[in-house]
Amino acid sequence: MELISKSEKINTSISIGEEELFNEQTCRIMAGPCAVESRDQIMFTADKLAEMGIKIFRAGSFKPRTNPYAFQGAHEQGLEWLEEVKKTYGMKIITETSDSTNFPLVEKTTDIIQIGAKAMYDYAILRMAGRSSKPVLLKRHFGATIDELFKMADYILTEGNKNIMFCERGIRTFETSSRFTLDLCGAAVIKNQSRIPLILDPSHSMGWSFGVPDIAKACVAFGCEGILIEVHHNPAEALCDKDQALDLKQFKELYDTMKAIGNAIGKEVK
Ligand code: PEP
Ligand code: MN
Repeated sequence: MELISKSEKINTSISIGEEELFNEQTCRIMAGPCAVESRDQIMFTADKLAEMGIKIFRAGSFKPRTNPYAFQGAHEQGLEWLEEVKKTYGMKIITETSDSTNFPLVEKTTDIIQIGAKAMYDYAILRMAGRSSKPVLLKRHFGATIDELFKMADYILTEGNKNIMFCERGIRTFETSSRFTLDLCGAAVIKNQSRIPLILDPSHSMGWSFGVPDIAKACVAFGCEGILIEVHHNPAEALCDKDQALDLKQFKELYDTMKAIGNAIGKEVK
C-alpha cells in the first residue's frame, strides 16, 4: 500500500492565518529557548528575536524529560506567557505537547503543534494532531527509521490534517561525543520520497553549543524548509538543554551568515 506521506495529497506550503510561512523557496528559522522558564525570560528573549526579524518563537512549556526530577516546564502558566508573546510581538508560536492530556491546552495556544521525538510513537497524540486545524511538526524519534517516521505521519494525514512538517533532530549511533548524529542521508531520503516540508534541528543533534553554528550553516546549504534552533539569554543558567543553547549574540551572528548561505542556494532564510 502506498503511504499517503509519499503521495501528492499533502500541502508543501504551510500558512498560519494569512501568511505563508513555509514553502520551497524559504528556509524558515524557528528560534527560542528549549523551555519556558519565567515570564521575564520569555518576554526578554522574544523581544530580542523579534527585533532581529524572527517570526516564529519556539519554547516548550510541557517538557518530556528523561530525568523525572528535572524541570518539567511551566505548564499552563507558560502557555499564558506564550500568548503574551503573540500579542506583544506578533510572533507565531511553536510549542510541544508531551502527552495527550495536555494536547488540548497546547493546541489552543500554539500556532504549530510540536510532537517531540519521544512522542513520535504516541498514537493518541498523532490522532489528535490529525484532527486539528493547526500545522504539525513531527520530530523523528532518535531510534526510528525513515519508514517508521512516514508511517507515523500517515496517522496524522489519514485523520485529515495535511499541514505537516518533518523534523530530523539526530539519531542515536555508536558515537557519543555529540548528543546525537544528525542524519542528513536520512533527510535526503525524506526530501526524495516525500513532499512534506523538511525541518532540521542542529541544536538537539549536536548537543553542544560550540558545534551548533557549523551544523546550522550546513543545514541551510542542505536545502531544507526550516531550522529549529535553541537560543537562551543566559545559557549557563538555562533549566533545560543548557549545553546546546546559543546566546543572543551567537545567534545573531549565525542568523546573518545563514542568510548569506541561503542567498547562494536560492532559498530565503527568514
Ligand atoms: C525540543 O525541541 O526541545 C525537544 C524536546 O526536542 P526532541 O523532541 O527532538 O528531543
Ligand atoms: Mn530542547
